[in-house]
Amino acid sequence: MDGAIVPVAAAASCHGGKETMLAAARAAGKSEMLERMAADYPKGPHDQPQSMCPAFGSLRVGLRMRRVATILSGSACCVYGLTFTSHFYGARRSVGYVPFDSETLVTGQLYEDIRKAVFETARPADYDAVVIINLCVPTASGVPLDLLPKEIDGVRIIGIDVPGFGVPTHAEAKDVLAGAMLKYARGEAERGAVARPRAAMADGLRISLIGELFPADPQIIGSLLAPMGVSLSPGSPAREWRDLYGALDCSVVGAVHPFYTATVREFAAAGRPVVGSAPVGVDGTADWLDAVGKALGVSADSAKAKALPGIKAVLEANRVNARMVVSGYEGSELLVARLLMEAGAEIPYVGTALPKTEWSAADLAWLEARGTHVQYRASLEQDVAAMRDIKPDLALGTTPLVQAAKEIGTPAVYFTNMVSARPLFGAAGCAALPAIVAAQTAGRERFSRMVSFFEKPPAPAKPVIVPSSKKLVKEEVA
Ligand code: SF4
Repeated sequence: MDGAIVPVAAAASCHGGKETMLAAARAAGKSEMLERMAADYPKGPHDQPQSMCPAFGSLRVGLRMRRVATILSGSACCVYGLTFTSHFYGARRSVGYVPFDSETLVTGQLYEDIRKAVFETARPADYDAVVIINLCVPTASGVPLDLLPKEIDGVRIIGIDVPGFGVPTHAEAKDVLAGAMLKYARGEAERGAVARPRAAMADGLRISLIGELFPADPQIIGSLLAPMGVSLSPGSPAREWRDLYGALDCSVVGAVHPFYTATVREFAAAGRPVVGSAPVGVDGTADWLDAVGKALGVSADSAKAKALPGIKAVLEANRVNARMVVSGYEGSELLVARLLMEAGAEIPYVGTALPKTEWSAADLAWLEARGTHVQYRASLEQDVAAMRDIKPDLALGTTPLVQAAKEIGTPAVYFTNMVSARPLFGAAGCAALPAIVAAQTAGRERFSRMVSFFEKPPAPAKPVIVPSSKKLVKEEVA
């Protein structure tokens, strides 16, 4: 049976049937892929996604790239949700879809349909690469994307499995595709000459940054590193195929978002040293510049002398006087907490849906040394319990945490919409984040009033006479 296409019950999904899906995937020859995922993305207290469908992360990485087509293979309901979310976030790109039914799944026709769609899409005039993503049911059924041609008329074909029962968060699904593309590009670069990135890269030492960063942040990091003679290479996830070669052609890698395990593996295979953490606040910036300098064998003294006084001045001018909890699934939660604590915030709890890796070790040590509890692979229940226990002046978190906070009259801010939509590094980050805290905590009294308003007992229901029946009934409360 191993390697055959095994149909999976339609009822199996992220809402249940995980064991069935896993067993089917193993029976269908996907054991090696599942073991790789289990090592790259270790599970935590919740072994099912608690946020959006994980495949959204891979889909988003594909949709953000120029000249890359992205095709989904999965249940219609999953594809509906994924395309809806993509367009909600402004993808403005078509998402390909290869539908299936029980018959095409059982007979193996689905694989043939995917193959046909890939051949029809792989037009070199339009695309550098075609990405095909197996969602839960095709993955569990063993649809063998690895049998697709690796290239059609010069268009690269990247087939990946991104099942919810193997990839715990959509953040890590970004890594699945980013890592697969980097692996492909590394193979091309090893075989011969490749195209230069569209934007010119400076000669000399260069850093490639990992993570979907606020657009100004790479430039801020570039200016921090300039006194060390270090400039920017394209980052990962890349925005264009040829940028992958530029990313690999760096001198050092900054794993700003610390969960990109497959991506880091490819950089390591290319012989590039990797540095964790990021330049947040005074301590974080000094430590990070030192770490980059050490990896490159250059002094960070001039960069620190130039950057730190300005960062310190902005931090002193933007103090935070609030007790907070921070949680999210972006990968920058520890960095955000560090910065806010340097600005004066008291943060007893930081939760991140992502796993513990060595690339956030410096941030973990800094936070723990100041009494903060850091919960990796935090479940929503853990985040909510911490928020209720700590009773913060402000909660930064995911949508359900923000809802829970508002229910008890605690000001709360969406991490993704507010925090990730602002600069985090250098002096700009020191001004932007405290401004959010100040604006939101100022509304605390309004939240209390709202809660007490809704807690007031409703006015007693007035008896009314229904003319037709003449019966006494209670007035319905809208
Ligand atoms: S593809 Fe996504 S939405 Fe569909 S069952 Fe899997 S995890 Fe759930």
